[in-house]
Amino acid sequence: MNFPIYEVSTFKQDGVGKNKGYDYSRTRNPTREVLENYIASLESGEFGFAFSSGMSAISACLMLLRSGEHIIATEGLYGGTYRVLTRVFGNFGISCSFVDTGELGAVEAAFEQNTRAILLETPSNPLMRVSDMRSISELAHRRKALVMVDNTFMSPWLQRPLELGADVVIHSATKFLSGHSDVIAGAVVTNDESVASRLGHIQNAVGAIPSPFDCWVLMRGMKTLGVRLSYAQASAQKIAEWLSRRQEVDQVLYPGLETLPGREIHRNQADGPGAVLSFRLHEDVCAETLLSSVSIWTLAVSLGAVESIITLPSKMTHLSYPREELERLGVGDNLVRLSVGIEDTEDLIADLRMALKEATHAE
Ligand code: PLP
Repeated sequence: MNFPIYEVSTFKQDGVGKNKGYDYSRTRNPTREVLENYIASLESGEFGFAFSSGMSAISACLMLLRSGEHIIATEGLYGGTYRVLTRVFGNFGISCSFVDTGELGAVEAAFEQNTRAILLETPSNPLMRVSDMRSISELAHRRKALVMVDNTFMSPWLQRPLELGADVVIHSATKFLSGHSDVIAGAVVTNDESVASRLGHIQNAVGAIPSPFDCWVLMRGMKTLGVRLSYAQASAQKIAEWLSRRQEVDQVLYPGLETLPGREIHRNQADGPGAVLSFRLHEDVCAETLLSSVSIWTLAVSLGAVESIITLPSKMTHLSYPREELERLGVGDNLVRLSVGIEDTEDLIADLRMALKEATHAE
């Protein structure tokens, strides 16, 4: 029922240049290979690659570009992705324009002669902005640019970007795929043979691969993806509706609410709203008191686990952004992100009710 953990670095060879398909685990490992095929099949893809983190998966995709080339990315995306684009790949001559990819016109206007890729997060973290993957893929392909989608928030259970025209799908497998806050991992899937051959080369050459044990832990988590996420999603919907009725809350951002701009597009490209939502607190409510008053929710970064997590993006996950940029985007100190886990929904709501009271008029 479970594939063994091949905790092996090197494989005995039959003769020089003769082996049974495996020679060194950075290049190929049986446990990793099973995981890679597993993720590829979930994403409707042919070629899967596992990485040691979501960031190494994203970095491997950015290494498909060359110095002097340009990429368009969703503005306000995860702080680590912003950091690697601006402060690592920027130093190697890869330039990036951050635009509201929810606006097709903005994407079109951002194209430069040397644009080779578009990196989308949809819904984006934490503003839940939705990008139309079908239209963007058509536009990008007319201009010979690759479309890469970070599908961490939805997971393949809810959204499969390759079916919508994207070329590459990326995961922080640390999140919904693994689901238990116990492993850091990443994944990339594609149907494009030439992209796959370059990604395989980068994976082996750079070597940011997960251990066989982590591959096994990840596969065990993935077995329950649908069960975990369907429960968490139903709970998130109730929590989003409850929050939108609270006077302490000015706005709730969740694809399961009619009020989210882009909800129709999301509905046309995903099978559900997911289990992550954000909300803006009324000015009388102190976000930091709220976050430290909860007891069932865990104050932490990360998302997608069976444990419910509460985060203040402006001071936690998005610290790499300049302060003015966060303000311009609307990621202020009153924007709270929730990742709903599998605890009892009423308990989660009762905990938020208590914490909201505690945080109202708090210094
Ligand atoms: N992409 C998104 C949307 C994320 O939220 C994160 C982490 O929070 C990452 C990528 C990076 O993944 P990892 O922490 O596994 O490197």
